[in-house]
Amino acid sequence: MTHNPISPTTPLDAEGTHHGFLRLPHSRDDSAWGSVMIPITVIRNGDGPTALLTGGNHGDEYEGPLALQALATTLQPDQITGRVIILPMMNLPAFTAGLRCSPIDGANMNRSFPGKPDGTVTQKICHYIATELVPLADIVLDFHSGGRTLDFLPFAAAHILDDKAQEAASMAAVQAFNAPYSVRMLEIDNVGMFDTEVESQGKVFVTTELGGAGTASAKTTAIARKGINNLLIHAGILSGTLEQHQTVQLDMPDDRCFVFCEVAGVIEYLVDLGAPVTAGQPIAHIWPADRTGVLPAPCLAARNGILAARHVPGLIKLGDFVGLVAVEI
Ligand code: ZN
Repeated sequence: MTHNPISPTTPLDAEGTHHGFLRLPHSRDDSAWGSVMIPITVIRNGDGPTALLTGGNHGDEYEGPLALQALATTLQPDQITGRVIILPMMNLPAFTAGLRCSPIDGANMNRSFPGKPDGTVTQKICHYIATELVPLADIVLDFHSGGRTLDFLPFAAAHILDDKAQEAASMAAVQAFNAPYSVRMLEIDNVGMFDTEVESQGKVFVTTELGGAGTASAKTTAIARKGINNLLIHAGILSGTLEQHQTVQLDMPDDRCFVFCEVAGVIEYLVDLGAPVTAGQPIAHIWPADRTGVLPAPCLAARNGILAARHVPGLIKLGDFVGLVAVEI
């Protein structure tokens, strides 16, 4: 088996706070013996559970990186029992470019797990995280938002899993995170996801979608910060009391939750995020971008629920995602 070329510049098991990098040799035109340097902070105090906290899996989603950068500068070893491993920008090449996918190999990190030690840059990063970091963790929190092309109601989520005990433990962690919405999530395309890899290793896994549109708001960043604290308390790593507010429980029972666009044009939303919709109701319609005198094409909800996610840019293409209709429990 090929050895993964990534090496940490800082120990992963030492007591105290250590800031460093995961260094991946990357030979290229502008730096023959250059490296991709992925920032990492490890904070440890004695024996106890390990939390792996990741952001920047997609490089255009910002609540996770912001909240984890703050955590790496504020969390003190004497506040915890166990270990916190913080990777605010796990897909550094994509993050630096402000893109969802890596500009080096074009890969979407969240479709590239479990990765390959002798693959592309993205595959090597995925392989290192999957084989060296995830096995150290008891609980994993991976931050997402909508990026430049989606916007979400702020939610934390766990997946519907075959192992019901693992599903229940992950849902309990979602409740502890306490985003304004808590989702039992169905994936439309789960092959290669970090989520799937972590879950296959039997770990408690929480993901989020905290907003989107290629930026972060004060509100969504505060949700991320509070969620981290709550999750670390829930995991028995941080002492303190959970800060809990009301959360709306949402379910995604089947693929009728998803609405996709069957024409190209300019999208006019007829309802906003959080609004109730009924089956057969148009949630948006698409005006032509190239002619007048043509009525817009409707995009219909296929079930009753609330609009939990939408497309962002004003222009939309054939096959683009239009809306997620989640069901309030
Ligand atoms: Zn994402």
